[in-house]
Amino acid sequence: MRLRLAQPSALIDVTRIAAMKTIRVDAGIVTIGAAVCHADVAQHADLARAIPGLSGLAAHIGDRQVRALGTIGGSLANDDPAACYPAAVLALGGTVVTDRRRIAAGDFFVGMYETALAPDELITAIEFPVPERSAYEKFRNPASHFALVGIYVAKFADGVRVAVTGAASSVFRCAELEAALSADFSQTAARAVTVSAATLNTDMHASADYRAHLIPVLAGRAVATANG
Ligand SMILES: Cc1cc2nc3c(=O)[nH]c(=O)nc-3n(C[C@H](O)[C@H](O)[C@H](O)COP(=O)(O)OP(=O)(O)OC[C@H]3O[C@@H](n4cnc5c(N)ncnc54)[C@H](O)[C@@H]3O)c2cc1C
Repeated sequence: MRLRLAQPSALIDVTRIAAMKTIRVDAGIVTIGAAVCHADVAQHADLARAIPGLSGLAAHIGDRQVRALGTIGGSLANDDPAACYPAAVLALGGTVVTDRRRIAAGDFFVGMYETALAPDELITAIEFPVPERSAYEKFRNPASHFALVGIYVAKFADGVRVAVTGAASSVFRCAELEAALSADFSQTAARAVTVSAATLNTDMHASADYRAHLIPVLAGRAVATANG
């Protein structure tokens, strides 16, 4: 709205709907209400024990003011190509729960600022399977703290999922890194991967080649963090 990209005639604040403001940590699954702000995700003790990579991601979104007001549902519905949460939802294989259906992460992110949501569809919660280990690393834009490139790496019993944000028109999974890290979950294996710059963004902040260089570097750092 500040950029005049949207000029609605009426606004409804969903952040006071109590049912959308809870975080639940059950065996193997974490459910975060869509109206939970980033600061509350970052500070939730049970969540930090279950998926520390996710609370770490939330703790480094924007600044204090942004973390106090911005919500996980708002971030996902907005689907900024440099936003952090889309990488976590895609890498963890999350499910976006709406007022009418459940949308798998792989079907949710359609393109730049574009999701599978209908215009009147409300995200009520997001479900995350708990991985064996995971971590998020971003090379942040120093002005906004959005991701110039951000990588979420998640290791499950049946393999590794890696999602990249900030580098292209929309968040995507990196097959080369997933194959390498499923075989050897190490920083060295991540650094040995070469990522093509062909479909990546060049803008005033970084070239496509630079973003391609950052992807395995940040993936390696995320693996090192996840491995403790
Ligand atoms: C200075 C600055 C720095 C930032 N840095 C980062 C960063 O480092 N990393 C990052 O990931 N993000 C960053 N952000 C984005 C921020 O985290 C917010 O999540 C984002 O701006 C969306 O704001 P919001 O959650 O208040 O949603 P809103 O602005 O209220 O909504 C955004 C859109 O989503 C829709 N919407 C909201 N909630 C729902 C729902 N439950 N269901 C369906 N549609 C919904 C709204 O109608 C609107 O179209 C930054 C923002 C600012 C201003």
